[in-house]
Amino acid sequence: MDFNMYFKSRQGEMIHLLKNIVGRESPTQDKKAVDACSAFVVGEFKKTGAKVTCFPQKKIGDLHLVEFPGSIKSPANERILVLTHIDTVWPVGKIDKMPFYISGGKVYGPGVLDMKAGLVEALCALKAIHQLSLRPARKIAVFINSAEEIGNDVTQEMIARLAGGSKLVLCLEPALPGGALKTQRKGRVVIRLEVKGKAAHAGTPEKGVNAIEELVGKLYGLKRLATAGVTISVNLVGGGEKANVVAETAWAVMDIRFWSSAQKDRIVSAFKHLNPNRPGAKFKFEIESLTPPMEKTKASIQLFQQAKKIAAAMEISLAEGRTGGGSDASIASGLGVATLDGLGPDGDGIHAEKEHLLLSSLVQRTALLTELLRQL
Ligand SMILES: [Zn+2]
Repeated sequence: MDFNMYFKSRQGEMIHLLKNIVGRESPTQDKKAVDACSAFVVGEFKKTGAKVTCFPQKKIGDLHLVEFPGSIKSPANERILVLTHIDTVWPVGKIDKMPFYISGGKVYGPGVLDMKAGLVEALCALKAIHQLSLRPARKIAVFINSAEEIGNDVTQEMIARLAGGSKLVLCLEPALPGGALKTQRKGRVVIRLEVKGKAAHAGTPEKGVNAIEELVGKLYGLKRLATAGVTISVNLVGGGEKANVVAETAWAVMDIRFWSSAQKDRIVSAFKHLNPNRPGAKFKFEIESLTPPMEKTKASIQLFQQAKKIAAAMEISLAEGRTGGGSDASIASGLGVATLDGLGPDGDGIHAEKEHLLLSSLVQRTALLTELLRQL
């Protein structure tokens, strides 16, 4: 079966489906809107013969797990887990200014690439497997996250649990520009650093301990940790009370990104061992959030090689690359489960008004996903 041809002839259907999903705007914070979009998508998944389980949520959109049978022999823990999300960064009404349209082989619209096209890929691949009575080697589960864009403890725990019970994970986030898969992603830690000094009259500053001066000096010092791809961005700061009082408190929140867990350990250890330059100053730090990096593992290298071979047989040359941003794939990969990310289409401009995907890539990626689900 030539799935490239198969989906090329169904391109109109795919666009129609994508238009319907993009048209149901679904910003993370708007539960009602996300649930309405999910209702449509879940209805489509049910047409593939899959079983859909809903996990109702109070604050975020309801979560859904789509389960598709595999060959009779495949045990549950041998399944393929496909990660998707239905939420976008765009508010309801954005589509009036940022309409869904196609021009020059590119498809535009809010959330079209990140990642409503991923949902279309999964839907069309499962429809094809169902309609053609193909027998995938493994059971397939598709998780639809409703709060990927802002992160959420419930969804992260659920992904970890599902990934832990799966043989491999495929994530349908957009490809790198040019179509490469993402086999490495940076991890991220958000750290809040607080300094406690001592207040005094600004006329006799030597009687106090200036927390702001201590903090600023330390922030410069911490820049030495930014080596080998580690980045430290201090993006929020505060402190002091009045212009004529030596600042007693100061704080900063920083976003630190890294390629490996070893780098993360080095950073956290540096914060643990911070010593003040001014006698009497005290440091306190807190990790506000932590996302593991997606590192290359033996299992993920092997999975990429397998995918590359399957793609080559379809005359698709598959490359790999790395990116600074995180995704749900990092959670799976952090558990040591073989993971491939960036299986969504090629395009550009996510979280920006010119967000678009290449239509030819949507067709090709859906064909590739179908073969991966069938053969892996
Ligand atoms: Zn995304």
